[in-house]
Amino acid sequence: MVLSWMLLCSLLPQPAPPFWVLPFAMTPATLSAHVADGAPRVLYQREDWLPRLDELRRTFGRNKEIPPRYELETLLALSHFPALKDTRIRFVTRSRAPISSRPFVWTLLRGRKSLRVYRIGIDESDRFGNSPALLKNMSFNARVGALGHEIAHTDYYETKRWYQFIAIGASFVSRKFHKKFERDTDQRTIEAGLGHQLWLWAREIRGGRVTDNPNSWLDRYYYAPSVIAEQMARLAAYQRLPTPQEALEDEAVR
Ligand SMILES: [Zn+2]
Repeated sequence: MVLSWMLLCSLLPQPAPPFWVLPFAMTPATLSAHVADGAPRVLYQREDWLPRLDELRRTFGRNKEIPPRYELETLLALSHFPALKDTRIRFVTRSRAPISSRPFVWTLLRGRKSLRVYRIGIDESDRFGNSPALLKNMSFNARVGALGHEIAHTDYYETKRWYQFIAIGASFVSRKFHKKFERDTDQRTIEAGLGHQLWLWAREIRGGRVTDNPNSWLDRYYYAPSVIAEQMARLAAYQRLPTPQEALEDEAVR
């Protein structure tokens, strides 16, 4: 499966041009841009949040090891998972897949969950060429979405006891389970308020495609952008915000 993913990612085209400046998006949820409260935001603007880096570190950076180059994106993604405030997570720039999430297995046996350590891997090598699936090739908000998806895995793992990981690991032989596992993770990322960022990530790794294609390996395992938008439309938290597609179209006519 990892091999398929690696192969696929190496074949994907370059990310589409970003559309980051959306002044119309000053809805109530975005006006409070300097409060990291986990509310959905159409876009995170790096320059708005850099001055608050120390505050983000104090609030969401406890027990986290984060590569400096992705610190802001990671802390913003973590701000959507307040239950993980004290959880030990190491973000490391080594991974067999472009981005991955798992516990350090031996720490599962420590008894208390507070002693567990999770690992989120970010591949920085040249193995995947210029694949848009690599964090280093993504736009800022797509990175927040990608990291949010991986942190949503951690959030799920935190609810499991050590022996349940054996069942989870064994279940990966089933495509049906793997599909549900990834799609449930996308759903949790949306429910955590990262719908717009997840949509951007999903669009970028598909080379700009937003439709759901039943012949796409990616779309079988993960929500296509159109599916993410459908799920967002069902949630009250997104009702007062432009949809990701509206935001994209608005930017296109500027
Ligand atoms: Zn995943």
